[in-house]
Amino acid sequence: MSNLKEPSFRESVDLMFNRAVALMDLSPGLEEKIRVCNATYTVRFGVRLRGAIHTFTGYRSVHSEHMEPVKGGIRYSLGVNQDEVEALAALMTYKCALVEAPFGGSKGGLCIDPRQYEEHELELITRRFAYELAKRDLIHPSQNVPAPDMGTGEREMAWIADQYARMNTTDINARACVTGKPLNAGGIAGRVEATGRGVQYALQEFFRHPEDMAKAGLSGKLDGKTVIVQGLGNVGYHAAKFLSEEDGCKVIAVIERDGAIHDENGIDIEELRNWISRHDGVSGYPTGRYVKEGSKVLEEKCDILIPAALEGVINLSNAANVKAKLIIEAANGPITAGGDEILRKKGIVIIPDMYANAGGVTVSYFEWVKNLSHIRFGRMQRRQEESRHQLVVDELEKLSESLGKTWTLDPKFKEKYLKGAGELELVRSGLDDTMRTAYQSMREVWHERDDVTDLRTAAYLVSIAKVAASYRAKGL
Ligand code: GLU
Repeated sequence: MSNLKEPSFRESVDLMFNRAVALMDLSPGLEEKIRVCNATYTVRFGVRLRGAIHTFTGYRSVHSEHMEPVKGGIRYSLGVNQDEVEALAALMTYKCALVEAPFGGSKGGLCIDPRQYEEHELELITRRFAYELAKRDLIHPSQNVPAPDMGTGEREMAWIADQYARMNTTDINARACVTGKPLNAGGIAGRVEATGRGVQYALQEFFRHPEDMAKAGLSGKLDGKTVIVQGLGNVGYHAAKFLSEEDGCKVIAVIERDGAIHDENGIDIEELRNWISRHDGVSGYPTGRYVKEGSKVLEEKCDILIPAALEGVINLSNAANVKAKLIIEAANGPITAGGDEILRKKGIVIIPDMYANAGGVTVSYFEWVKNLSHIRFGRMQRRQEESRHQLVVDELEKLSESLGKTWTLDPKFKEKYLKGAGELELVRSGLDDTMRTAYQSMREVWHERDDVTDLRTAAYLVSIAKVAASYRAKGL
């Protein structure tokens, strides 16, 4: 973070909110009601580890309860603090509204470096934290449903779900108390990849609109576009992998904690990820050029920059040097309010976090619905769909016979057409639809209103209008 006068993360989110709300005509007082965080619970609890009691500090913040349950991840990081958790909770409110996931916004965090602990220690800590939150309904299928975030994943969510189930032995919907669980503990296919997949779908949708591309000085297709990714964690890894393997993008640099790898020929994401997990960093990677000061690579020329790590990485100190044409915020809050202003003036198009990384919560929504309905998606329809398609294929093959096989079905078409959609296909389809629809709602505002010159403001306008409508419907 720069030494220049930069607001805190929460202030930064508020500033962006204020910019948007100034263009709206909300009833007096409603603006503040929406902006402020409803409540933040701080807990300090002790866990006996290695012969001594260790005290941990955790938070769960509820930003808006215009819809319940409220939703948002739990982060494990030493950088967790109240300001950050509140900023992230606010972003959850806007994110859920924008993609029409029927939740209010919440976020949690625990001040901990998870890499300092053994697995069984992390389990004790997580269960204790979950106990403290569940006891106050801050984990609850109809009140507050956490999910993974930085430093947490399926494993932690499984512990949380089990802890809640132990405390609520007769709750038939106990599994819906948290999302992002492994498949064998009530999770859903495609949740782990969901946020990265959402980034891919967001870019695919952006590239369907030549007018939007032109605003960023881009044209053509995703194929061949150069990409720089910051952070090869769950989100950055999946986004980079799908964009390079499926859309033909060339990932020319990856920035990690210990530096960056730059390679104009394109980086093999799978290989680099394997290297990182074996060597705990990118340094020493045999291909490409290693750059010690990784953050400098944010300033390199590329078509698409994907910050997928921490908040505040593009700020007053470096925004002026950023040369990317398009930035897609896979992380939450990677650009400060000051940085945002500089980038906007430079004409760089930003696909904002509340939209760009909404894939995670979207698939969390599907998981929650799956848990409440107690049935896997596709279980009822899949074979029926396949048998109906078989009927068509049989008829077409008869036709082919009657034409003396002068015309035949393409075997690839046949294989694809005959395969009924399972849970993964349905989840991806629902996610793709969500990302397309939400993008279109933002771009409509972006193009139709002269006073809206960026996608972030457009995203805020769409989501605040939805939150305001819920409040009005409640009589507030
Ligand atoms: N932590 C993710 C986010 O920031 C996912 C939240 C969720 O699935 O509830 O959007």
